[in-house]
Amino acid sequence: MAPGVRDTVSSTGSGASVSLAGLEKSYERVGAVNGVSLDIRSGEFLTLLGPSGSGKTTTLMMIAGFEQPTKGDIAIDGTSVVAMPPHKRNIGMVFQNYALFPHLTVAENIGFPLKQRGVAKAERAKLVGEALELVHLPGYGGRYPRQLSGGQQQRVALARAIVFKPRLLLMDEPLGALDKQLRENLQLEMRRLHADLGITFIYVTHDQEEALTMSDRIAVMNEGLVSQVGSPEDLYDRPCNRFVAGFIGESNFLPATVKGLEGDIVIAECQGAVIRATCPSRPSSGSTVTLTTRPERLRFADTLNGSAQSMNRMAVTVTEAVFAGERCRYMLKAADGTMIVLKEPSSAAIRRRTVGEHAEIAWSVADTILV
Ligand code: ADP
Ligand code: MG
Repeated sequence: MAPGVRDTVSSTGSGASVSLAGLEKSYERVGAVNGVSLDIRSGEFLTLLGPSGSGKTTTLMMIAGFEQPTKGDIAIDGTSVVAMPPHKRNIGMVFQNYALFPHLTVAENIGFPLKQRGVAKAERAKLVGEALELVHLPGYGGRYPRQLSGGQQQRVALARAIVFKPRLLLMDEPLGALDKQLRENLQLEMRRLHADLGITFIYVTHDQEEALTMSDRIAVMNEGLVSQVGSPEDLYDRPCNRFVAGFIGESNFLPATVKGLEGDIVIAECQGAVIRATCPSRPSSGSTVTLTTRPERLRFADTLNGSAQSMNRMAVTVTEAVFAGERCRYMLKAADGTMIVLKEPSSAAIRRRTVGEHAEIAWSVADTILV
């Protein structure tokens, strides 16, 4: 066995830490990545989430070493790797298009990175067998890629990316080409694999649900910058700007005017109502702001028997009522015409609202964020 592989094998169980500092990449003076600073912890499952063109792939390519940063630094385990060629970084990678060699068997595909590293045949067979077990494809070694389904091919690509025991695995929309059911199954498998291997995963997707399901932390990217970093709960419950509130989940946006502060709570006037909101900054009185709330955190006040007293309340008119099985979705109009979406879990015991009906909605101050 080559000494390099022995080293990486012995370090199994701990993941690399990755530090991006002021990372930039421009193509002909157009910025693809415009100053990304991010610390990814050892063993973390971190997802770069953002719309198409937000710089996710470019960031990943710079970590892998296939793109050279225009500015900034990348450190792996505290050591700058900017001048290090990709193969020396010892990073596993999986892409959306599986990129398997069609003329090689599954075992040969998975064994390829080992062969490149000079691992002897017997050891290679053992490691390939282990990798096939890990991705739940034991016994598939003799097949060719064309004899496998899309999901199976992607598992082979995954096995090939981890067979040499990297401490860091980069994945760029690896499930993007698969259908929904398969994608959901593989999301759970990715999590299990992450837990089993204990290595650091950096995962790229534009699918917010996928990011919320799998990640320890998510870095939301927009226009080449990180807009917010946090746990799925942080981002969903406490988006710190309008982009994040709108990109992750569904949000209502209500224009409001700041009236004052009560400790950490902002008091604002909104649609003729006094609304309390949580806010990390301290906006000045009289300033115009936007309040955001999630549709499923809103309730019709008359269903809340008493507990609505301490909540934000607002008068609305129902303009649309859609029964969607597990929940009802209402479109509501506030005093000045702002539209609000409310999602209520359905129950045969709850009266359905009709279009044109006047109602009062209520929601908790904790679910009201000023962005
Ligand atoms: P994402 O993966 O989030 O969709 P990318 O990192 O692929 O975004 O691209 C970010 C921006 O950089 C896009 O506007 C894209 O057109 C541009 N870009 C990416 N690669 C190149 C390239 N090789 N040459 C010129 N522009 C590029
Ligand atoms: Mg991309």
